[in-house]
Amino acid sequence: SMASPALLMRVVASAYSVAEKAATIVRNVMSAGDLGIVEKAGPNDLQTKADRLVQMSICASLARKFPKVTIIGEEELPTDDVTEDLIEDGHCEEILKKPCPAQYTGIKEEELVIWVDPLDGTKEYTEGLLDHVTVLIGIAYGGKAIAGVINQPYYNYEAGANAVLGRTIWGVLGMGAFGFQLTEAPAGKHIIVTTRSHSSALVNECITALNPDAVIRVGGAGNKIIQLIEGKASAYVFASPGCKKWDTCAPEAILHAVGGKITDIRGNPFQYNKEVKHMNSAGVLATLRNYDYYASRIPNTVKESLVP
Ligand code: AMP
Ligand code: MG
Ligand code: MG
Repeated sequence: SMASPALLMRVVASAYSVAEKAATIVRNVMSAGDLGIVEKAGPNDLQTKADRLVQMSICASLARKFPKVTIIGEEELPTDDVTEDLIEDGHCEEILKKPCPAQYTGIKEEELVIWVDPLDGTKEYTEGLLDHVTVLIGIAYGGKAIAGVINQPYYNYEAGANAVLGRTIWGVLGMGAFGFQLTEAPAGKHIIVTTRSHSSALVNECITALNPDAVIRVGGAGNKIIQLIEGKASAYVFASPGCKKWDTCAPEAILHAVGGKITDIRGNPFQYNKEVKHMNSAGVLATLRNYDYYASRIPNTVKESLVP
């Protein structure tokens, strides 16, 4: 008889369904019209009712199935019991059928860390830039991002009433990434994607030094990695603290699964063990191809301004 699927594949298959439920919550909160906006650190660091409900849904749903996995979510919430309507207990059958990469078949629950950004691009969500929003579930093992799910609840929302709204992208190192069409950015062009709502003099100085052909300013770390894997941009450059481990874990796993690379601005890899500092203090540099081209052109003055 068939051996039962490896833990990693069961976690990814569940995270897929949990992210789809999350997307439904994100859309429902918006259409109900009351976002319940709370400022965290300040006006550029917001939390809405969707961030809160989705975090409870994802964390409680995954914790119920995988009680020994460490789950770290962005939002600090009271530990009130989560209502049953927020629980998703399904999984994606297609993912469960795929073989687990050999190096991950022996992973135990207590060895996994799941980084959850319930709603990435909150600022843009509150401003109606809906396709910038993603739900991020990143899975780490041995301090490395090895699998991830990115749901984009409003994918296709400008395509009209008949378009299918939303999509789920997922990937595992050694297996690849699925749910989108891998596309390279135009050859010979340097198109930088960066923050829209968290710019600074240093962020702009760094981009200028790369002498880009074009700069795309959009919200969300998840959204910017999607721009890279769909060939809209050639590098994601963010020379600033602000981005956290839950912003980069799922995107990193998916980008690395298709041969891309993400580090901080100084070229250091991110660590995702449960004890790690949450802030990516030295910024973000990511590409699908030609990482070295961009890394070699980041000014030393910019690198020295960002302390990991
Ligand atoms: P952005 O590219 O501005 O959408 O940022 C990507 C992610 O990092 C989002 O989750 C932001 O909320 C977060 N982030 C970046 N910079 C800051 C900041 N200065 N303060 C708070 N969050 C930030
Ligand atoms: Mg985020
Ligand atoms: Mg968030």
